Amino acid sequence: MDKTERIQEICDGFRELCSVPYNESLKAYKEEGGKIVGTLYNQVPEELLTAAGVLPVRLRAVGSTGAEAADARFTQVNCSLVKHFYDSAAKGRFDFIDGLVSTNGCDHVRKLHENWVSVLKPAYAHMLCFPKRQGDDLQVTQLTKEIKKLKASLEEYFGVEITDEALKNAIVLHNRTRELQCALYDLRKKENPPITGAQMLAVMMAGTCMPREAYNAQLEELVELCQDAEGITDYKARVVVYGGEIDSIDFFEAIESQGALIVADSLGGYGKRSADMQISLEGDLYANIANAYLMERPAEPRLHGTRAARWEYLEKVAEEANADGYIQTFIPICDLWGYERVMFATEVEKKGLNCLVLDTEYIFTASGQTRTRVQAFVESITEGGR
Ligand code: SF4
Repeated sequence: MDKTERIQEICDGFRELCSVPYNESLKAYKEEGGKIVGTLYNQVPEELLTAAGVLPVRLRAVGSTGAEAADARFTQVNCSLVKHFYDSAAKGRFDFIDGLVSTNGCDHVRKLHENWVSVLKPAYAHMLCFPKRQGDDLQVTQLTKEIKKLKASLEEYFGVEITDEALKNAIVLHNRTRELQCALYDLRKKENPPITGAQMLAVMMAGTCMPREAYNAQLEELVELCQDAEGITDYKARVVVYGGEIDSIDFFEAIESQGALIVADSLGGYGKRSADMQISLEGDLYANIANAYLMERPAEPRLHGTRAARWEYLEKVAEEANADGYIQTFIPICDLWGYERVMFATEVEKKGLNCLVLDTEYIFTASGQTRTRVQAFVESITEGGR
């Protein structure tokens, strides 16, 4: 097997793991007696769960075919993401988890947590209150307290002690994941990126639904293989995808099928933003975790007062990847990313940028329409070829 084939094989393996909520890797982990805690949104400090000896798994309602079970519990102004999540939970698709940890990412996800707890009654559930402002020590102090509350709650329910040594080891493990992911993102800035945007999304999501040590080992190999890979040459335009909790590989594939190679992203959930931080091992580990998640990681729309920083980050990402245009996407009724869309439009107009806005429901079905719109966009920015 040559390098290109091995890269493909690793990426296909990651994609396979992302194709169902309860994949083969998780099944094997559970069969050996492992405990899994499902997490909602990327503000949950996974390091703490790892240190507690439980596997954090970011839940995704992948493969959901309906949201009927959610009809009585949510309103028409709740986004499709939370409805599919609730429906999947109600139908037992997340029965493999031993507990649930959510954050107050938005009112919709709060409602999801409330319904999950009051109706479906998971054996263990915890809501971590994440500050809504990025700015000073007060918020970091508050988040540190919240992280310590989560620690106490995990210790009590799972009957474990989270020692500083275990937490340090967990931080090292997760820091390594982020370092490798960033290295892969860097390689995608090349003229001929080694992997597509759809493959990269699979890489990022796989890291949230399998044991981390095994993931890091495969990621190490992938980064190594990608160093001097031949790379992709048959594309027409380089684009950055910007938006919320997008977890559909099919959506990215529909975009890329029209020659718009996704070379960078700034996404709410699974993109480079979540990997763009390192947690210090010096001093108070809990404060370090809070500082990294709140202050160091590039801001997302829910953090007040960060508009300029968000735009700056997006522009930097696009510039470094030598992007020709932006594709902005969001799930309808998502107020956080909906407002972002309005602000984004202002910047686009001011600067005369190439931009396409694509809405997508949480479960992506509009493949034909997406392909047609991306095709027109690519033609408009390349005028016949790059
Ligand atoms: S998609 Fe938007 S509205 Fe829905 S849970 Fe996520 S942030 Fe909240």
